Amino acid sequence: MKIKDLFDSGEKTYSFEFFPPKNFSSILELGINVGQLMNLSPSFISVTYGAGGSTQDASFNLIDYINNKIGLVTMAHYTCVNATKEKVAQDLDFFQEKNIENLILLRGDLPPGGAESGKNISDFKYASDLIEYVASQDRFCIAAAGYPETHPESSSSEKDIQYLKHKVDKGADFVVTQLFFDNNYYFDFVKRARKAGITIPIVPGIMPITNFKQIKKFTQMCGAKIPETLVQQLEPHQEDLGKTYDIGVEFAINQCRELLDKGAPGLHFYTLNKSRATVDIFTSIK
Ligand code: FAD
Repeated sequence: MKIKDLFDSGEKTYSFEFFPPKNFSSILELGINVGQLMNLSPSFISVTYGAGGSTQDASFNLIDYINNKIGLVTMAHYTCVNATKEKVAQDLDFFQEKNIENLILLRGDLPPGGAESGKNISDFKYASDLIEYVASQDRFCIAAAGYPETHPESSSSEKDIQYLKHKVDKGADFVVTQLFFDNNYYFDFVKRARKAGITIPIVPGIMPITNFKQIKKFTQMCGAKIPETLVQQLEPHQEDLGKTYDIGVEFAINQCRELLDKGAPGLHFYTLNKSRATVDIFTSIK
C-alpha cells in the first residue's frame, strides 16, 4: 500500500520508527517492542538507514522482515550520501522485489569535514536530486524530511523552506518532520510551507522523553530546542527515570493532542526501539 493513499482517504496516520538492532539482546528487545506496537495497528512502520553507524544490510533485512513476514505497511529510509547511481538503482530494485512501496529519501549526514572533505562520492548532492531520480521512475511513494526549527546547515529558515519546496517539486508525496517539542515551531513551519506553495501532508515527528541526558544529546545533534519550562521540570529528576518517564509521557500526550486538534495529518513516533512510552501516549490520545 502506498502511504499517500492513506492521506488521500482523509485518514490520520500513526507511524512508528525503528532502527536496526546491533546485537543479540537488542534484537530480542526490538522483537518484543515491535510485537507490543503491532497491537496498536499502526498505519506504517519505518526503518532507518545508515543512521548512527547502523549497517545498510541490517536496515534492509529488518524492513523486509516487517513488510513481508509480519505484514505491516512499511517505509524504508534511504540516504544518498556516498551512493552512486548504480548502487541506488540496485537498491530500488531490491525494494520493488520485496514489495516495499514507500521510501523516505534523505541526503544523510555528511562525513566528518562536510561536503568539501572529498569523502562523499555520491552522485546525488542533495535529497532533492535523489527524489528527482526516484520519482522519475514512478515506482514508489516518496516522503521527504522537513525541519520545523530549520536544518542546522541551512543559512536561513527561508532558504530551508525553498529547498523543501524543491524536494516537493521533484516528487515528494508527503513530509515527515524532525523531532520538536514546542508545537509553535511546527505550526509556524506548516504556515510557511503553505505560503511557499507546499500543499502535501506534513507529518510531525514525536520523540517521547524518557531519559533527559539522552534527549539533550539528541537535541544538540539535530538542533531541536527543549522548552525552558520542560527543562525546569525534567532537570531536577534526571537521575530518576521513573519520574522522567511520567513527565515526558504526560508532555508528549498534551503535545500530540494539540497537534491533532489543530490539524496535523498524523503522528510519526521516533520510538528508539522501545514501545512503552509510545503505547502509553497512543492509547491515551486515541
Ligand atoms: P537535504 O534536503 O538535501 O538538505 C540538506 C541541507 O542542504 C539543508 O541544510 C538544506 O537546507 C540544504 N539544501 C538542500 N537543497 C539545497 C540546494 N539545492 N542548494 C543549497 N542547499 C541546499 N539520516 C540518516 O542517516 N538515516 C536515516 O534513516 C534518517 N532518517 C531521517 C528521518 C527524518 C524524518 C528526518 C527529519 C531526518 C532523518 N535523517 C536520517 C537525518 C538526515 O539525513 C539529516 O538531517 C541530513 O543532514 C539532511 O538530510 P535531508 O534529506 O533533509 O537533506
